[in-house]
Amino acid sequence: MKQNIYDLNLEELQEKIIEFGEKKYRAKQIFDAIFPCGINSIYDIKNIPQNLQIKLDEKFEFVAAKIVKTKVSAIDNSVKFALKLLDDSIIESVILYAKDRRTLCLSSQVGCALNCAFCETAKMGFKRNLSSGEILYQLVVANNYLKNFGEKITNIVFMGMGEALSNFDNFEKAFFAIHDQKIFGIGTRKITVSTAGVIPSIKKLIERKIPVDLAISLNAATDKIRDEIMPINKKYPISQLLEISKEYAKEGDRKVMFEYVMISGKNDGENDAKQLVKLLKNIPCKLNLIPLNDCTNALVCSSEAQIEPFTKIIYDAGIRVMVRRSGGKDIGGACGQLAGNLT
Ligand code: SAH
Repeated sequence: MKQNIYDLNLEELQEKIIEFGEKKYRAKQIFDAIFPCGINSIYDIKNIPQNLQIKLDEKFEFVAAKIVKTKVSAIDNSVKFALKLLDDSIIESVILYAKDRRTLCLSSQVGCALNCAFCETAKMGFKRNLSSGEILYQLVVANNYLKNFGEKITNIVFMGMGEALSNFDNFEKAFFAIHDQKIFGIGTRKITVSTAGVIPSIKKLIERKIPVDLAISLNAATDKIRDEIMPINKKYPISQLLEISKEYAKEGDRKVMFEYVMISGKNDGENDAKQLVKLLKNIPCKLNLIPLNDCTNALVCSSEAQIEPFTKIIYDAGIRVMVRRSGGKDIGGACGQLAGNLT
């Protein structure tokens, strides 16, 4: 099977090129051609000699996924791509528009192993990790789409299918390519990874000083409720999660974002809000409340009448809080809706 060219960093491609008996600088020429928008075939790179094109064609895949469906939201212009990978697995990514920002919500796994009660991706189960090249190729596809409008992706959120921090090495390799000036050149303050709370990986981010913004899906203010809706909480409970968040904020000198899906009658009462204030008040953070998007479970989104007083309690306690209105609801592209459903 051919290798996905996007899985290689520049040094690795240089080594391959030298193995082919060619000059190292050819690798840079290839990188300049394939990033940021991809190519249809190696034969599109005209400044590469034909004998090298043939060798590269034998060894490498230059089209790492095919777009099988593109859906554009009638509400907010969000664009969802369903991509078929070389092994026929389906993943999805979503472009979100906000003022001059073009944010790509990336997938990091095919499916997800964490089984959160409110999330549709959980229903797929876990199939496999994405390689770094498969993660990056989603960005290539999105940039190629936006090119038609004279635009490109400006921000990245690892909030699509899967748990990026359970796929640490590939996440890390993709992160550095996204940040690299010579590849995608997206600033570190514009790249966010969201996690359900894989604490050993958060520790690794700190140890390796990986300058990514961290979002933590808290979703409940007590272990009792969090255990019910996020099974990972039994392994990494709230107290440990808050402790590591504090450390992250301090070491990285950046605010941690907490995400909190609002589920009617489950986690949206006055007591939940007060408890949440207690948990967060000593952590440099901001809180995103996410009204539950439709899912096939018997969970219901909190009403405005519930969200409003909840938000006020948090706000009055001096915690930065906002309600996140997920983009792409009408195309199954909002938070928690990515399930590889092609209809
Ligand atoms: N595995 C990562 C990223 C995936 S989900 C994580 O857990 O953080 C990104 C965000 O969407 C998370 O905060 C998650 O709690 C939220 N989410 C999942 N399902 C949702 C739904 N049905 N409605 C609203 N938000 C949802």
